[in-house]
Amino acid sequence: MPSAQPATPPATPPGLEPSLPLPSPCLSYWHRTTRGFPHLNANENNPTPETADYIIIGSGISGALIAFSLISSGVPGNEIVILEAREAVSGASGRNAGHVRPDAFRGYAAYAAVHGPEQAKKIIVEERKVLHAVDEFVRKYNVPCDFDLTTTFDVCLTPEFAAYEAKSFEAYKAAGGDVSHVQFHDGDEAKRRTRVPEAVAAYEWPAGSSHPAKLAQWLLGSVIDKGAQLWTHCPAIAVMESEHSEYRWDVRTPRGTIATQKVVHSTNAYAAALLPHLNGYITPNRAQAHSLVPTSAFSAKNAFASTMSLRYSLHHFYSIIQRKGDGTIVLGVSRSNPELSAETLAIRESFDDGAFNQEIVDDALKRFNIMFSRDGAESERHGEGLDHAWTGIIGMTPDSVPYVGAIEELPGQYICAGFNGHGMARIFTCAPGLAKLMLGGSWEDTGLPECFQYGKNRLVKAVRKGQKGSVW
Ligand SMILES: Cc1cc2nc3c(=O)[nH]c(=O)nc-3n(C[C@H](O)[C@H](O)[C@H](O)COP(=O)(O)OP(=O)(O)OC[C@H]3O[C@@H](n4cnc5c(N)ncnc54)[C@H](O)[C@@H]3O)c2cc1C
Repeated sequence: MPSAQPATPPATPPGLEPSLPLPSPCLSYWHRTTRGFPHLNANENNPTPETADYIIIGSGISGALIAFSLISSGVPGNEIVILEAREAVSGASGRNAGHVRPDAFRGYAAYAAVHGPEQAKKIIVEERKVLHAVDEFVRKYNVPCDFDLTTTFDVCLTPEFAAYEAKSFEAYKAAGGDVSHVQFHDGDEAKRRTRVPEAVAAYEWPAGSSHPAKLAQWLLGSVIDKGAQLWTHCPAIAVMESEHSEYRWDVRTPRGTIATQKVVHSTNAYAAALLPHLNGYITPNRAQAHSLVPTSAFSAKNAFASTMSLRYSLHHFYSIIQRKGDGTIVLGVSRSNPELSAETLAIRESFDDGAFNQEIVDDALKRFNIMFSRDGAESERHGEGLDHAWTGIIGMTPDSVPYVGAIEELPGQYICAGFNGHGMARIFTCAPGLAKLMLGGSWEDTGLPECFQYGKNRLVKAVRKGQKGSVW
């Protein structure tokens, strides 16, 4: 039986061997606060059905929202099977830093260098559309995912980074980019608004935060209520040409083989395990986040009302959101950080989301205290401070934008993966867009930037340009 590979895969850059999700992921703050989800281990011991019209591989926000979008477009729920290698939402969607944060201008120059100015503008506009899409969706369906529509600050912590931001802002504006929703705060005003004594300048624009696991779980619960079937702890291990003449593909799992017409790879950084021609074109990058119980200086009326990205440089930054209900602060850290040891930096390229790194914890807490230093700050009481640290795997692509669309060389197979750490700011238009394509729509119908469309040309271009990792 031939395996599902295109005839002439382009030469791939060397990298980590593709992998299925590893069996013992750690729990994030989001996982720890949603252990009661009734479908967490759905069908964990049951044999799979023999056939399904649609198989969606991956139960993250991509997979769950594709299922939701298909059903909303009239596909009967009972024609959809979702396969998940571990418990439901055990990937990045259940272990991120909680931001639904559109880029407002900062990435423009980097995107323009790879995709040209028009596409770069579209990429940034798209993220703003996603914020509105999430807000609208959550309100329409009353989704209990703690979505908080607020503003966010890009806080410039060095004059050099302030200069970089000013240049990006002007470049985006000069290209016709809309910055009418972005406010600039300089010097003392930036310090006052952000409460960061080191702030040199800050930009503020609308953004949100959510409990990402609750959002994904709500989507899964909703599609299951409409007849979709979720198989957890059930990795797809191969997609082969079907042995049944009336089906195109056989999806093999340890608990049975399912014959199907359409397969969706919403498998994030793991995509190349089933699509070997993507080896090197979707790569894992391990990220770490932390939850903190605030001291009284950041509790009640002193809580942060906005989210923040606090930046020493483009690649050295920290992020915070503070949750409305329990006041938990989620502290994210950049994957590059000049202060970390070479050993710690080296383990970023990994599929291992089973543990966390202490050096990163120490750096994040040290920086949090420096960034929000106050005179006469009280010491932490027992129960305050670091609550938990966790890791997750981000799927990177060489041109920094996701792969969305039909895998033309494998008719009936589709991909929606590679969000480069921006999934919450991208999936809410990409997943419905993919559902449209699956139901016969054109790329124009998706409304997505053309550069998001999967095509072998993107892989070939990446090889030609020597792009081996995301610009982020
Ligand atoms: C620490 C961290 C912080 C982040 N912070 C942010 C943030 O603040 N804002 C933001 O926008 N983005 C953030 N991200 C990125 C964001 O979480 C991702 O872009 C997004 O969750 C990707 O969603 P997904 O559904 O595509 O992938 P995932 O949520 O990873 O889902 C893929 C699923 O597929 C399953 N799977 C893979 N292979 C198979 C297989 N063969 N068979 C069965 N199942 C399989 C996996 O187990 C997984 O559950 C962060 C990520 C991390 C790790």
